[in-house]
Amino acid sequence: MSSDCLFCRIVAGELAASHVYSDDTVVAIRDIAPQAPTHILLLARTHIPSVRDLGEADYGIVSAICAAANQVATQEGIAEGGYRLVVNVGRDGGQTVDHLHVHLLGGRHMAWPPG
Ligand code: AMP
Ligand code: ZN
Repeated sequence: MSSDCLFCRIVAGELAASHVYSDDTVVAIRDIAPQAPTHILLLARTHIPSVRDLGEADYGIVSAICAAANQVATQEGIAEGGYRLVVNVGRDGGQTVDHLHVHLLGGRHMAWPPG
């Protein structure tokens, strides 16, 4: 845990969030500034700054996040219609919080290409 990391503090329960799911590896919360009717953040429990920092030993975390995304999408009633998973990496990728997370967006049709 990194005490100056927003998502570490949410995972630790030090900061409030709207929690929708949790397991040994992943904590899922509603995004504070939703970009779609359903906008959930799947946070790794471990502090890893970004995809760029993933090592081979961390690949199980990525699988766990995908499995959690499926489960949360079902919970939210958007699994059938489809949804989008987004990972922003680094500044040009649009990443603003340096703690591994995946956006789950759904509840409307997603345009392509993204902005
Ligand atoms: P990214 O820009 O990919 O790093 O995603 C960070 C996301 O965290 C953004 O979509 C923000 O709206 C969201 N966010 C920032 N602070 C909070 C918070 N306290 N609770 C929930 N979501 C947050
Ligand atoms: Zn962190």
